[in-house]
Amino acid sequence: MFRTHTTKEASKLDGEEVKVCGWIHDIRVLGRIAFIILRDRYGFAQLTLIKSLIGNENFKKYTKLTRESVICARGKVQKTEQAKLGFEILPEEIEVLNQAETPLPLGVADKVSADMETRIENRFLDLRKPEVLAVFIARSNILRGIREILSEENFIEVHTPKIVATATEGGTELFPVKYFEKDAFLNQSPQLYKQILMGSGFDKVFEIAPAFRAEEHNTTRHLNEFISIDAEMSFADDEDAMRILEKGIQNAIKYAVEDESFEMLNRNLEVPKIPFKRITYDEALDIINSRGLNMEWGEDFSTEALKILGEEMDDFYFITKWPLEIKPFYVLPHEEKYSKAFDLMHRDKELSSGAQRNHVYESLVEVMKSKGLNPESFEFYLRAFIFGMPPHAGWGLGLERLVMIITGVKNIRECVIFPRDRTRLIP
Ligand code: ATP
Ligand code: MG
Repeated sequence: MFRTHTTKEASKLDGEEVKVCGWIHDIRVLGRIAFIILRDRYGFAQLTLIKSLIGNENFKKYTKLTRESVICARGKVQKTEQAKLGFEILPEEIEVLNQAETPLPLGVADKVSADMETRIENRFLDLRKPEVLAVFIARSNILRGIREILSEENFIEVHTPKIVATATEGGTELFPVKYFEKDAFLNQSPQLYKQILMGSGFDKVFEIAPAFRAEEHNTTRHLNEFISIDAEMSFADDEDAMRILEKGIQNAIKYAVEDESFEMLNRNLEVPKIPFKRITYDEALDIINSRGLNMEWGEDFSTEALKILGEEMDDFYFITKWPLEIKPFYVLPHEEKYSKAFDLMHRDKELSSGAQRNHVYESLVEVMKSKGLNPESFEFYLRAFIFGMPPHAGWGLGLERLVMIITGVKNIRECVIFPRDRTRLIP
């Protein structure tokens, strides 16, 4: 057996013998006594080395070990007021499993301060920092929170193709791939497939999978590969879809903040109350223009406009009833120029877009044409609308955007283990 206890389990004992394994976070030698701070995923343990007890040879050998080497230590746990952690281990034996070279390209014991490029280049080391790990524990808890709500609500988890023949939105933001003798693309969104599944009678589906967008701009909230959480439900309208979404977000935050690692993020986040406020696009426009901006009806919100809105609104809010012309072809038209589309916002950031969808074939084709799309290239999708398609609604939520606002990190790259951006393809 490699280890009998994690550092956290050991911290609760007094007088027992344990074997703990991990990385050397720090070594301090004070004459005839030395301290090795051992780190594992669960925390730290102080190994107190006393020369007279372990012998000259061993003392010399162990205190020469390099930071970030992997070791196992066997010895007695002892509660003590003197140690910062409240306990220490008096090792009888230390086994060196893997020696780390020096110098380290990135200090693990130092606070996060290196620039993003250096951090990503040395990501395996960067991820050893407890406050970086905490982002990924939060990410995992966020997913658990959302999955739980969707499962409780009877959604079926599905997976749809990521190699496709047509664009979801007819955009230019596509990565081409060679598919034997054909040209194909990496999918931007599972939108069309999840809608087809409504025609298949799946009733409620969700998918958590990568989406690829060849967006040229390098921003702190865009990735070229991100995880999209997509849900679609039948016999449902925009309001039904928003209700599931806000429940999912609330539960995600609950799970993220109740994990003890969340403390590492130094963040005071409360579980939000639902329902979130809904304002219409027109109301949002009035707020923005009353604050001195000159935004025309039918325009999308600029960064500046969203800043203003973010200041006026609660943390989470929905913008509903969007002009049809600025939303994708598949949203349901409503009252002439409007649609049943909504966006979920957190202050000035878009977290999710959704809508009740257009399930009426003739109208769908008409909107498609008006947006300059060729219905023939969407035949595989449109066929599902002529043999019995129920009314349906859904949304797409960017996982990393949500992780960003929950953990408070400023750059979306920090929410991905190995981010893909305009210039980065390795590691
Ligand atoms: P934005 O205007 O912020 O670029 P969008 O309206 O183009 O986003 P949608 O097509 O509505 O994005 O996608 C649904 C959700 O997926 C967005 O609300 C966002 O959370 C997430 N998302 C979209 N594009 C990206 C991206 N490049 N990187 C990370 N997340 C993204
Ligand atoms: Mg959107």
